[in-house]
Amino acid sequence: MTNTSTEQTQEFEYKAEMKQLLHLIVHSLYMHPEVFLRELISNASDALNRVRFRQLTDKNILNPDAPLRIDIAVDSKAQTLSITDIGIGMTKEDLTDRIGTVASSGTLELLQRMKEENRPFDGNLIGQFGIGFYSLFMVTDEVTIETRHADADSNGYRWQSIGEDKFSIKEIERAQRGTTISFKLKDEAKEFSESYRVEGIIKKYSNFVDFPVSVNGQQINTVSALWQKNRNDVTEEERNEFYKFISDDYNPPLGHLHLSIEGRVNFKALIFIPETAPLRFFREEDLKSLHLYSDRVFIQDDCKELLPDYLRFVSGVVDTEDLPLNVSREVTQSSPVMAKIREVLTGRILSMLEGWVKNDPEKYEKFFKNFGLLFKTGVSSDFANKDRLVDLLRFESTKTEAGKLTALKDYVAGMPEDQTEIYYLSGDSREAVERNPNLEYFKKRGIEVLFFIDPADIFNMPLLTEYDKKSLKSIENADLELKPDEESQSDALTEDEAKPLIAVFKETLGDKVEDVVASKRLVDSAATLVVGAGGMDAQMERMMRMMNQEYSGSKKILEINPSHPLIKNLAQLNQNKGDETLIKSCILQLYEGALLIDGNMKEPAEFVARMTGLMEQTTR
Ligand code: ADP
Repeated sequence: MTNTSTEQTQEFEYKAEMKQLLHLIVHSLYMHPEVFLRELISNASDALNRVRFRQLTDKNILNPDAPLRIDIAVDSKAQTLSITDIGIGMTKEDLTDRIGTVASSGTLELLQRMKEENRPFDGNLIGQFGIGFYSLFMVTDEVTIETRHADADSNGYRWQSIGEDKFSIKEIERAQRGTTISFKLKDEAKEFSESYRVEGIIKKYSNFVDFPVSVNGQQINTVSALWQKNRNDVTEEERNEFYKFISDDYNPPLGHLHLSIEGRVNFKALIFIPETAPLRFFREEDLKSLHLYSDRVFIQDDCKELLPDYLRFVSGVVDTEDLPLNVSREVTQSSPVMAKIREVLTGRILSMLEGWVKNDPEKYEKFFKNFGLLFKTGVSSDFANKDRLVDLLRFESTKTEAGKLTALKDYVAGMPEDQTEIYYLSGDSREAVERNPNLEYFKKRGIEVLFFIDPADIFNMPLLTEYDKKSLKSIENADLELKPDEESQSDALTEDEAKPLIAVFKETLGDKVEDVVASKRLVDSAATLVVGAGGMDAQMERMMRMMNQEYSGSKKILEINPSHPLIKNLAQLNQNKGDETLIKSCILQLYEGALLIDGNMKEPAEFVARMTGLMEQTTR
């Protein structure tokens, strides 16, 4: 930002990023113009909430007795609108740093991408980007802000946008704290200088603006905290509008809880689970949208202590009388009241999800697909609720279609009587696990195998050793209780026939492997790698390697398929003292092919060179 100063007025130029953003908003993105009013009221209401909180502890504040309200004035002849709040106001730094700059980096790129991809830009999205103020420029070319911060020794300032790329700031006399924003409407937006039009918009969501809002001196809302009402007195529409107002989401929520808790801890709450994750959710990792009130007085937004991290997609309001009114952030962090609220809220949310599982499984599946990634991490972080969380986990499996999910409970219910273990296979994707030769045995017998194809599943594994008294086993483990396949057994190599070949395998592979054995699990493939006692499965190894480049991995057991034609040929060749180099090449090729399938092959060049050699030999 550059600035040039005359006597009292300082001129500033918007940063390049800001200019582009303004240009986008004004010329390229379509949104409902009425959105600007909601954004202004929402900012005014934030400013009032802040000053109300400040008043609790600061006796020197400016205009301590002024009633907290929002006044809108419209003049249809002059085509103007102004909005005044008696809130916290802005310092000069606020004006340059918060009004003149884009809050979060990446916003511009995201908006530009949306434009390029021709994605519809719902105006309701604007709040999610933290640039709500600028939606004003859809309806006006020039804006004036007059403001004074609530600190007793603050100065008043006038901020003015002058043209598309500049703004100015000037010190002014202003007796009252708070902010007035005024502007002349463009011709195509002059409807917003009609009081009936403005009133209509405010009525849509004013029921939960916690302060009186008036238009030309007439109050148009009845102030009432929605969450304080009896749950039956709140209509679905009111609730959904409230949700949209606090969350900046443009869809109605997937579910909600309206709670009034009395007993060990007392609080009221109106909280929501969104239908889809809001855009900001993935960009701002510590985003929380739960607001804390103490006996109707706003204390803090984005309160981190009210819910565990794995539930941070929940938004809404929690209001408690159990906290002292002049509570500070430090106190809320360590307060036992907060811990109790958190415990009760978590329990209620899990109960709601369990209710969906029972009564509306599709809804639950929708939820899990959207938030499962985060939700699953609860298994390893919330010990008190671990069992409930495990029951809420969902997986794909050999018996689900791609994209469909099953639960551990359903897996166990479908187990044949003689099956004693729960089987899973982990990998990067469904396609990758489907190709794994270790699945052949299970597919052939119709035994269900769960697919752990999400990194969170792998992290949860160490904690998921048992379910319903049955142990969970990776099918890549060597020590599974497998019954050999009788029909393929009939023409397989006998133990005695396989023995000399296995010896050559061991000699060739040396310490690349822990052991070489005849497989009971392979049907179509010639060889596979499995994990010995205490070893890690292939997916776990890949994760370890991602975290630590040096990690060399544990040794595997190579299983070879005694009924596979190639293995039988090799046994024959070996018995007849055939071409030794050819046998060794085949063995190395089989081993590295198995590594390749596991995703753990390190030197593809050798593999390819050897393969070329083998092809050359057979085509001679
Ligand atoms: P957001 O509200 O999402 O942060 P905005 O562009 O709407 O984004 O507002 C930017 C910032 O300007 C706000 O975070 C706040 O600090 C300040 N601001 C806007 N309007 C007011 C107001 N009426 N009173 C005090 N501060 C305000």
